[in-house]
Amino acid sequence: MIRQEFSRADPKRRTALDPKKRQFAPATFQNVEYKHRLNFYVTPPTADITLEQFEQWAIDRLRVLAEIEACSFRNKNLTETAAHMKPLLDKYLPLTSSTSNSAATQIERQKDHYSHFILRLAFASTEDLRRRFSRAETTLFRIRFQDNDSRERQKFVEGLNLDLEIVSDEERREYAEELRAAGGGFPKRIEEESYYKVDWEKVPELIEHRRVFLKGGKAYVPGREQLSMVIAEFTNKLDKALETTSRALPRLDEDDRLSPILTHLSQNFTTPDANYSSSSTSLPGADISARNIDTLSSSFPLCMQNLHRSLRRDAHLKHFGRLQYSLFLKGIGLNLEECLVFWRGAFNKITDDTFNKEYRYNVRHVYGDVGGDSNRRGNGYSPFSCQKILTEHPPGPGEAHGCPYRHFSIDNLTALLQQVGVKDHEVLKGVKEDKEKQKFHLACNRVFEYAHKQEIKKVRDDGTWGAAQLETIVHPNEYFKRSYLLKNLGKNPTDGGGDVKMED
Ligand code: SF4
Repeated sequence: MIRQEFSRADPKRRTALDPKKRQFAPATFQNVEYKHRLNFYVTPPTADITLEQFEQWAIDRLRVLAEIEACSFRNKNLTETAAHMKPLLDKYLPLTSSTSNSAATQIERQKDHYSHFILRLAFASTEDLRRRFSRAETTLFRIRFQDNDSRERQKFVEGLNLDLEIVSDEERREYAEELRAAGGGFPKRIEEESYYKVDWEKVPELIEHRRVFLKGGKAYVPGREQLSMVIAEFTNKLDKALETTSRALPRLDEDDRLSPILTHLSQNFTTPDANYSSSSTSLPGADISARNIDTLSSSFPLCMQNLHRSLRRDAHLKHFGRLQYSLFLKGIGLNLEECLVFWRGAFNKITDDTFNKEYRYNVRHVYGDVGGDSNRRGNGYSPFSCQKILTEHPPGPGEAHGCPYRHFSIDNLTALLQQVGVKDHEVLKGVKEDKEKQKFHLACNRVFEYAHKQEIKKVRDDGTWGAAQLETIVHPNEYFKRSYLLKNLGKNPTDGGGDVKMED
């Protein structure tokens, strides 16, 4: 490969060490023993892991961080966020307490450690990514810190060697009144509380809420506010480390194994990627047939509703539109024969001959019925995730593919939403704000929640759906499946989805 000449391993450095000495030199790559459940991520990992672990661990952490960010956009407070995140953390990034002391505990901690550093590399490149990564990581740390056993937490804090100056008894008595005033009259007797002096920049949260006494650039922090100090220190260290990492990034470009993975990961922070699997999106018993697509389309996400509407209006779709839509239809369970019937019926201004010559092959190719061996073995291509639709092949003039939340102007987007029944002023305003902040999939989830609010309330209240089933949607096929199931609660799916309606 051409790029091998840019390999990171510098041949001069490689040969500099005498082979005899090398075998007795201390190992550079070492496994770390993780004493604490929590980690300040000060020391980078150095042991070997496989490329598959590298990628999978990072993807798992990314799911967690993206969902934390989604919680913050929905204005969930920390308690609500922690409750929402619990099943996801248990699934993707579990961290058991030190009392279990098993080999699995060490592996969990290793995954936590490595995945943090991998994403640090992926998200150090721009200021926006650094800021978002730092915020999501800080929330994750805060959730875990509060969830920690109190003795374990204390041991962890002691091990941090935070640069805290203890306020002497004399000074405490001298400022007793001010300290009590800052604590809202607490403690009654100043001897009942210990205080630390720290630089005021280290506790912005306490300053903002006027919970500390300030003097000479120092904040007098009561012991009970330990969490704020630890969190501030965590963020502070992480922000500095991200800056340093961003300066080192150009050197990493030389590694042609890691760069593509890191680029892919950072793109996924725009919208977390989702793997499609037919088993996870199929709806056994539902009438997924060519004649029922019009009815089912009211449960489609806006990207697919737009394609469907354009197809019905023009009796035609351009190449990428056909590809995006065919894959989606395949993903909802439309088989090849029905898909061919659907397209033939939709392209009703052309002859059979033209259809067979120009379009039939493409549809069969999507299903893996024709094409190269690998395409056939793999049953064709997978339906596109939001991430792919949002970031690849933006639509040009006359094309209807892509994501309306990203590729439409705000006026056209609002008009389309109104056409599909989303008329609520607050929802439209929220979508506009999401679009301005480039949170396209959150706008889509906002519309989903609005269109299914009664059903979501029901499954939440009666406990039939957990948080994991109501996780942020990042795939059009997941959108359809969830919409279909919600709109058909308690109905026999063999009814054919006749009552599936997204429009109020
Ligand atoms: Fe489609 Fe995803 Fe865009 Fe929603 S966010 S409209 S599902 S591409």
